Amino acid sequence: MHGTRSADVSVRVRARATTTATDHAALAALVAARLASEPSTGFRRGHVVHVSEIEIAHRCSHCGSSRHGQPYVAAPLHLAGTVHVSLSRAGTWLALAVSRTGPVGIDLEEISAVRRAGFDDVAFNPTERAELALLDTAAADHARAVFWTRKEALLKLTGDGLRVDPRELTASLWESAPLLWPRAPLDMTTVQISPVHIDPVRVGDATLVGTLVQQVRGSEDWPRKSSDR
Ligand SMILES: [Zn+2]
Repeated sequence: MHGTRSADVSVRVRARATTTATDHAALAALVAARLASEPSTGFRRGHVVHVSEIEIAHRCSHCGSSRHGQPYVAAPLHLAGTVHVSLSRAGTWLALAVSRTGPVGIDLEEISAVRRAGFDDVAFNPTERAELALLDTAAADHARAVFWTRKEALLKLTGDGLRVDPRELTASLWESAPLLWPRAPLDMTTVQISPVHIDPVRVGDATLVGTLVQQVRGSEDWPRKSSDR
């Protein structure tokens, strides 16, 4: 668990907008900035991909609905499948991730949201609760947010969301086993987990924790070689 390869992923944390459309515009802007840093794609077809050409849409991997599910880049079409995005909202904050390497999931939480009564029962399995019980109150609250954002970020990456019981995944502060998922639909050795750098971490009454999960190499169909496109 280290952050070196997360340099491949563009990440932004900012105040969120009041509408989904405006949050999507912020994500489109980050995609455009990312592409502009890659002249070989930006100048494809003789022009730079402008933010107005980028369309963010939703697609549910479970039922196919376009009204919910994970965001993806729907246009321009020549970028389909080669730009991976994720977004997360927490309180008044928005976290965005754009990767050209492979699927990504980002999750942001306020610590106050994960220490509320009853949360542990639905979020954490007995192994995680035993680890949390060893920590003092402040450390346990922080660990709850770290555990939860890791699980949520990975479930976003796979497109499962909360259709999977989050207690199937086990997060730990042990660096050798930051996140285990026996029934994972992907090779967990291809998954990298890194904390999202947030500055400032504390905004008003809210203390924020974020996690980025990325798939850095895969089998069969991806990552597509950029030379193929
Ligand atoms: Zn659905």
